[in-house]
Amino acid sequence: MDIETDILIIGGGSAGTMAAVVAKEQNPAADVTIIEKGEISRSGSIAMGMDALNIVVQPGITTPELYMKSAKIATEGILDYKPSYAMAERSYSILKRLEEWGIRFPKDEENNYISLQVHAKGSFLLEMDSPDLKLVLAKKVKEAGVNVINRTIVTKLLVKNNQIYGAMGFNIRTGEFIVCKAKATILANGGCARFSLPNSGYLHGTFDYPGNAGDGYSLAYRAGAQLTGFEFAQCSPLIKDINCPLLYITLTRGAEVVNAHGETIDLEYVSTQNMLKELRKGKGPIFIKMNHLSEERIQEIERILFTVERPIQKKFWENRGIDFRQGLIELGETEYQLCGGHGMTGIVVNEKAETTLKGLYAAGDVACVPFQHLTGAFVFGEVAAEEAVKFVKKIDFGEVDKSLINEEERRLQSIMDRNKIGTISVQEFEYKVRRTISDYAIPPKNATKLKRFLWWLPRFREEMKDIQITDHHELSKFEEIRFILDSAELSVHASLAREESRWGWFHYRTDFPEKDDKNWLKHVVLELGLKSGEVQTYLVPIDKGGEN
Ligand SMILES: Cc1cc2nc3c(=O)[nH]c(=O)nc-3n(C[C@H](O)[C@H](O)[C@H](O)COP(=O)(O)OP(=O)(O)OC[C@H]3O[C@@H](n4cnc5c(N)ncnc54)[C@H](O)[C@@H]3O)c2cc1C
Repeated sequence: MDIETDILIIGGGSAGTMAAVVAKEQNPAADVTIIEKGEISRSGSIAMGMDALNIVVQPGITTPELYMKSAKIATEGILDYKPSYAMAERSYSILKRLEEWGIRFPKDEENNYISLQVHAKGSFLLEMDSPDLKLVLAKKVKEAGVNVINRTIVTKLLVKNNQIYGAMGFNIRTGEFIVCKAKATILANGGCARFSLPNSGYLHGTFDYPGNAGDGYSLAYRAGAQLTGFEFAQCSPLIKDINCPLLYITLTRGAEVVNAHGETIDLEYVSTQNMLKELRKGKGPIFIKMNHLSEERIQEIERILFTVERPIQKKFWENRGIDFRQGLIELGETEYQLCGGHGMTGIVVNEKAETTLKGLYAAGDVACVPFQHLTGAFVFGEVAAEEAVKFVKKIDFGEVDKSLINEEERRLQSIMDRNKIGTISVQEFEYKVRRTISDYAIPPKNATKLKRFLWWLPRFREEMKDIQITDHHELSKFEEIRFILDSAELSVHASLAREESRWGWFHYRTDFPEKDDKNWLKHVVLELGLKSGEVQTYLVPIDKGGEN
């Protein structure tokens, strides 16, 4: 299939749907296309609803400046001022837009939004109560007249002279090869949820949406864009065995965390680092305790957990015979992920969502705007759309290099032909890759350990020819392994480059155990070396936006 569109959006999750609707609002005549790997009404991190919009600066109550103080603490100073400030500044108008679309933000008796404190400073988290959020977004996309191509995985961007002209991929069910030429392209395809292995061993049993396998990082990297924050692989204590979140929902409502000795763990705010420390001291397992809460509070927590966020939890607790009124909820430390939403990993972007490549924008978890969560996905979905609409007015469709298209089609076809006789299942191969990531690419780190992963990397890439591929769904899994390997390679190079320890456990190097602000208040930026074909690493100063 050959398509031409003004604005191509890769990924129909939170950022992608918002970008599509706003692009059509800004210019109804513009042709806008979303290519989505799954099915847009349920794909991505939201899937159903979310219990909160994590960052909202309410006029007269909090300020973007206060948010920046908080963000600086969370990132330990590795944060560019302008994109995060822009997100905070636009967060309230995002809330108002969502309200207009029928999304419910509960209020108290005095008609104030219910806000909770999860940041070091300021109550920025606003409760949200709409289990059908993703359906609403998908409906808005449809009503706006956006062309949606579901069940299609993008495997390569069309690039020429540092400018992006669209992308290529294939339908996961039929195998149809798709070339989409575009004047502007917005990457909105999430982080890398499938990084190290979850403790359950289930490949897709991850906290974050498992359809995001570092696709966007790899696509941008291979096209020549700059990326950053890859040394920050992170994990959160989650509900043991089901790997669902509940810290924000319970701890902000009076729950406590206790260790195996029944001692309460001191949490300054919702500090995952303090919980991880307790586990390292050998005082695990750790538990959420709620038996001191009122019946009303427990019911509130149950309602949120069992309706808005992940309703499957209701069945899970019933099967285990656990009632929050008496029983403790065991937390487990599980997989590490790379993410620009819950973490600080991603494509380098400025406050206009521009990447370092012309015609390419990035929004949401794929972009590095540290800890931007859902707010950032929506705000930068809007921003990327506004900027892309302005950009496409100035240009015409570029001349696309036909050889790039032929090469990609041949590459995919040759995997299908060659790998029919492969001997290793795609699942087994992914298991091995991710087990090796667990062995060598996550904390505690040191140079010898990290380099062991680099020893494995070319072997994995070579041995991929032994993966058995019998249909196009398996071909998409093959491509995802390629994206996971690229993400891991970037992460290991960044971790080797940052010769200090920072962010508590998340970048703890036993060979450089101290934090070194004098030399390391810098970004580690990564880029594909055009001549060498290898990862190039640069140290780039922080943009403090005029602050000290
Ligand atoms: C369990 C959980 C709970 C959360 N709770 C909250 C909360 O309460 N409040 C809050 O503020 N934040 C929360 N977050 C964070 C927030 O949901 C994310 O930051 C945000 O949704 C990310 O949006 P996104 O568009 O970047 O990614 P997603 O919404 O995940 O969308 C990415 C899309 O890209 C598609 N895709 C991936 N690769 C390709 C490819 N190669 N080709 C085509 N399509 C592709 C995927 O299928 C997916 O649909 C939560 C996250 C999780 C995982």
